[in-house]
Amino acid sequence: MTAPFDQADGDTLHEECGVFGIFGHQNAAALTVLGLHALQHRGQEASGIVTFDNGQFSAERHMGLVGDIFGGKNSARVAGLKGNAAIGHNRYSTAGGSAPRNIQPMFADLTGGGIAIGHNGNLTNARTLRSELVREGAIFQSTSDTEVIIHLTARSAYRPIVDKLVDALRQVKGAYSLVALTSKKLIGVRDPWGVRPLVLGRLDAAHILASETCALDIIGAEFVRDVGPGEIVVITKDGIESYYPFKKQPSRFCIFEYIYFSRPDSVVEGRNVYELRKLTGEQLATESPADADMVIPVPDSSIPAAIGFANASGLPFELGIIRNHYVGRTFIEPTDGIRHFGVRKKHNPNRATLKGKRVVLVDDSIVRGTTSKKIVQMVRDAGATEVHFRVASPPTAHSCFYGVDTPNTDDLLAHRMDVETMRRTIGADSLAFITMDGLYRAMGGSKRDAASPQFCDACFSGAYPIELTDISGGAKDNQLSLLADVA
Ligand code: SF4
Repeated sequence: MTAPFDQADGDTLHEECGVFGIFGHQNAAALTVLGLHALQHRGQEASGIVTFDNGQFSAERHMGLVGDIFGGKNSARVAGLKGNAAIGHNRYSTAGGSAPRNIQPMFADLTGGGIAIGHNGNLTNARTLRSELVREGAIFQSTSDTEVIIHLTARSAYRPIVDKLVDALRQVKGAYSLVALTSKKLIGVRDPWGVRPLVLGRLDAAHILASETCALDIIGAEFVRDVGPGEIVVITKDGIESYYPFKKQPSRFCIFEYIYFSRPDSVVEGRNVYELRKLTGEQLATESPADADMVIPVPDSSIPAAIGFANASGLPFELGIIRNHYVGRTFIEPTDGIRHFGVRKKHNPNRATLKGKRVVLVDDSIVRGTTSKKIVQMVRDAGATEVHFRVASPPTAHSCFYGVDTPNTDDLLAHRMDVETMRRTIGADSLAFITMDGLYRAMGGSKRDAASPQFCDACFSGAYPIELTDISGGAKDNQLSLLADVA
């Protein structure tokens, strides 16, 4: 699968957000910019930062990439964000939800003080709650489900603001890792299933929250620990307090974070993402070897899995496809007529390497299959005599409703076809996916526990760990926005 910047072809999965928070550092805003920059892969639509200083919250929220929003001629925005505490957010959204009013962190003045919230994930009962709130007179400013959390927090009868937030979160269902900032506190929360990541770090006396450890690395902060599923950490000038105020649930971390979303240099839930991806490739080679001359990754995200495949198979690893790193997502519009050029724009075959060779093409997933088909054809056109396609995840046959933008289920190739039909459709000589148990073995387990899976793997298995209230209640099959934005 191509990397998150390659969104123009509509054939990729996208993480919906990255969050960052820091408390107790005089350069809080500037460090948040760096943290968001390291988390750019989790969302490229928009970014925002909220700080607190001397009785006042300040905010900058804009569409675009972090470097464009807060760098160069816009660096004065950072200087205007005063204070020793900040939270930041990178947003990815579908077209319907990308209006500026949805940019986070969102802010509200409540009884007891202001609160800003940045949220990674997706609530599965947000539409239901929103309808109830609107019926009761709530006026929404955005279509983001984060605002549902803010409304519920505002209406809570509890007094301390942390209790209000907990009261609100007890009413929501779904996946969330969020950071919140009040006048005195930085708060981090993970949903009881722990679907999305959140880590705690430290830089001198400052405490940090971030979606991934790569955001700690960039500012020279040390990793302290993961925030646990269902945990709320409250950071004040007196230190950190930890609470578990939600009903305990079985841990269901998103297995796709390891396969594709997280940066390979991040350590996620104690596991190095790069090493795990190599292990998936090794497992795949053991399960589905191919008689070929070389192993080629579909760059960039599949490179570690291809290295693992090459290591285990004894075949040479070659860069048979070169990726252009300077392709912005707005370069062309994702219309059917020009998608073909989109693939060639991003990937070009290394003809001298491919000519006359039998290749194993390793990718981390197949979504719609349109890109896979074009890449197979491109490699053949470059002179490869055989193309064996190997995928380091099981067939993606179900949509995600927990914060990852996937096509509707009917548009997923694996939902419509068996493996042999998929092979014919993408034009490969052979096609194989890692097995579910093989994936779990690569993650360090023996196999998937069918009664209580160790991870969320719903996009492969269809076994959704958290109730899909909006969907089962008849809400429109759209996992991201609550309303369609009208331009
Ligand atoms: Fe991750 Fe898939 Fe579960 Fe979504 S459905 S949280 S992408 S494993």
